[in-house]
Amino acid sequence: MAGIYIHIPFCRKLCSYCDFYHVITQAENKSYVGTLIKEADIRREYLGNENVSTIYIGGGTPSVLSPEEIGILLDLRKLFRVDENCEITIELNPDDIDMVYLQGLRDSGVNRVSLGIQSWRDSDLKLMNRRHNSAQAAAALELTLKAGFENVTIDLIYGIPGMTTADWSSNLDISFAYDIKHLSAYHLTIEPGTVFGKMKEKGMLSEIDEDESSSQFHLLIEKAISAGFIHYEISNFGKPGYFSIHNSNYWKQVSYLGLGPSAHSFNGYSRQWNVRDVKKYVKAVESGSLLFEREELGKKTRFNEYIMTSLRTMWGIDLEYVEKTFDKEGYDYVVNLSGKMVDYGLMKQENKTLVLTNQGKMISDNIISELMLPGDK
Ligand code: SF4
Repeated sequence: MAGIYIHIPFCRKLCSYCDFYHVITQAENKSYVGTLIKEADIRREYLGNENVSTIYIGGGTPSVLSPEEIGILLDLRKLFRVDENCEITIELNPDDIDMVYLQGLRDSGVNRVSLGIQSWRDSDLKLMNRRHNSAQAAAALELTLKAGFENVTIDLIYGIPGMTTADWSSNLDISFAYDIKHLSAYHLTIEPGTVFGKMKEKGMLSEIDEDESSSQFHLLIEKAISAGFIHYEISNFGKPGYFSIHNSNYWKQVSYLGLGPSAHSFNGYSRQWNVRDVKKYVKAVESGSLLFEREELGKKTRFNEYIMTSLRTMWGIDLEYVEKTFDKEGYDYVVNLSGKMVDYGLMKQENKTLVLTNQGKMISDNIISELMLPGDK
């Protein structure tokens, strides 16, 4: 079961924390959509005979495209073996949509909407330079549900400078009052080179302290679980039957094809990524070629990727899979190193799987790094 990711790199405004590849422009949407279809055609053999179970339109800001353009884009389904019940997700900015827009998306085949709410507090949205305010976020979520989208997910950010645990608690309460089926919640990270990164360098912004971070993360888990969600990946929560197929594929080493500038593709043995420049990307595809870099994944890299992705999920490290795929050497390595994590209460072994405890999830990056084979950290 493979996946397709389509990157729409255009944004109307720069968010202060943003580290994704995007360009601030009102693009030539129609010609860009045509280029994406052309790339899909050139790469139609990439997924072999695998069925496609998920298509994800992300960005940037996919809602700079009209529903008609999304419909044309989704015609690329004809080039692949797409499942009848394929999950088709689009990321939307709350201030881009109205009922006509949403109905148009449903007509084009989109069946899952991801709304970039980020916070219900206007002060946070202003600090992050988001285009929408909390009233627009509420109106957009209500409209999306009213339009008949059953599978709706929202994005929230916590650990924002100035946000208290009480503020975060109220953000969660507001979110869970809606009939959403999925939540992705990310701790804000201040990356170098972003607006926030520059503010931090000048001493104008500082990260929230570790205790506050930790209590916000624990509150997230507690509230999401009591609202009926399953914590199936460090940052992702879904109601039963509503886990993201797209994200789960990434974590389960399933093949995917990435279309558009900067998009990554993976086929089990190699990973490749398109040039991170929209002009160079369009020029290459329009001349019938592709600009990308590729990395062949050796056994060590595949082992480390498996540890990195599986340990973030509720399914954890499957020790039988490790032994079968990475031999006794890989198995012994994991079992020996995980022993002390189990003793410290950071991991637990359930039958033949190793999973993180809530305490372990707090420092998941450190644990993953400990378990990875040296030389590829
Ligand atoms: S909308 Fe998304 S991609 Fe665009 S600037 Fe904001 S965070 Fe970055």
